[in-house]
Amino acid sequence: MPPRRDNDKFIQADSDSDISVDDEDFSKSHKGKGKADVRRKRDVKGKGKAKDTQSYTWEASYTRSWETVQEDEAGSLQSSVDDWMARGRRRRLLEPSTAIRRTIIRHLILLLDLSTSMMDRDMRPTRFDLMLQVVREFVAEWFDQNPLGQIGVVGMRAGIGERIGEMSGNPQEVLKCIADRHKLEPTGEPSLQNSIEMARSSMSHLPTHSSREIIIIFGSLTTCDPGNIHETLDACVKAKIRISVVALAAEMKICRDLCDKTGGQFGVALNEGHFRDLLFELIPPPAQQAVSRGASRATNPSADLMMMGFPTRLPDTSPPSLCVCHSEVKSEGFLCPRCLAKVCDVPTDCDICGLMIVSSPHLARSYHHLFPVRAYDAVLSADEAASNSCHGCFRPFPPPPTGTTTTSEGLSPLGRYRCPDCKNDFCSECDVFVHDVIHCCPGCGQ
Ligand SMILES: [Zn+2]
Ligand SMILES: [Zn+2]
Ligand SMILES: [Zn+2]
Ligand SMILES: [Zn+2]
Repeated sequence: MPPRRDNDKFIQADSDSDISVDDEDFSKSHKGKGKADVRRKRDVKGKGKAKDTQSYTWEASYTRSWETVQEDEAGSLQSSVDDWMARGRRRRLLEPSTAIRRTIIRHLILLLDLSTSMMDRDMRPTRFDLMLQVVREFVAEWFDQNPLGQIGVVGMRAGIGERIGEMSGNPQEVLKCIADRHKLEPTGEPSLQNSIEMARSSMSHLPTHSSREIIIIFGSLTTCDPGNIHETLDACVKAKIRISVVALAAEMKICRDLCDKTGGQFGVALNEGHFRDLLFELIPPPAQQAVSRGASRATNPSADLMMMGFPTRLPDTSPPSLCVCHSEVKSEGFLCPRCLAKVCDVPTDCDICGLMIVSSPHLARSYHHLFPVRAYDAVLSADEAASNSCHGCFRPFPPPPTGTTTTSEGLSPLGRYRCPDCKNDFCSECDVFVHDVIHCCPGCGQ
């Protein structure tokens, strides 16, 4: 599925998942005050003006999504749409545009909170259902952008860490293990230490060139640990495991420490849309740290060459034989180029000789993270030399607006976006498509 993230946001604007930051969510996670405070504030409001927002809790369960979309004077919704476009563009401008070193061979353990606090209904329909839904989208998008990566899933419930899915490079396999809602039914207390230890042990065998990451989705405000969690944290720092936490309730000191000391990101979700954004920010591969500016590439010790093998794909009509990964009799599969063992899926590490087996399209798809397309500049004033149609889709640009128009920051009033390298103009749709989907400028690529 192509990652049309900006378009999803348009849909969200008029669907039920609200994008507005309402009173309760905001004060809960921003000011860090308890619920009681919010309730008091609401009471005061209820006595004052009746039409002042959200007097009763049951009212809050209806999202007034129509109120988040503002019409302009002419009754058009274009300004709201522009606002979303501008937000996406600004986010893209913040991303580094120069080539930086990133780890493209990633190993990630998703640590899902399956404790009773996930049944809380402050996020609709429940935190648990929302998490499953967003994690499924996340997994699909993650594999789309990181085809050489592998994901494993660990659950936290009833005080222990529970292995839900083995580390796998096949998105279908990962999605299958989180598909059944009833197998993941939340129970008991979560244990951060137990589940981090489990995640750590399942990544201890990995080679040094791959990244080791843990993403924790945490809805609880407590953790029930058998020992000192700071020892676990130190062990993670030593093993170069990067831990990121997306909290659904509030900030906890230990979660913040886990992220800060291991170089991960921490965030508290304000609402459903923000939760999704926080999680999706973790999709691009992390930049490699500790590369000082003075050191040249040659002296950088971690820039080793690594061995990879391109497998031979067996046709479906080949005689069935046993695979080394599942010991199943199948006709299709891939042959390791070094030891000729048969594996079911790529990318993977050969179970017999340990060679990393990738397919060349996967390798090519990972490439764009290393050389990102530079953000296009918004064209603010018309000039005669510019072409009349978009260089990407050849649709003519709209005529320049007459009179004074107010546009939000980062948007072009002419609807033109210019590549800083090849100086071609693109329409806003092509701008989004180039940066989010194809990762290659059609003008520069010629
Ligand atoms: Zn197999
Ligand atoms: Zn092999
Ligand atoms: Zn276009
Ligand atoms: Zn270009």
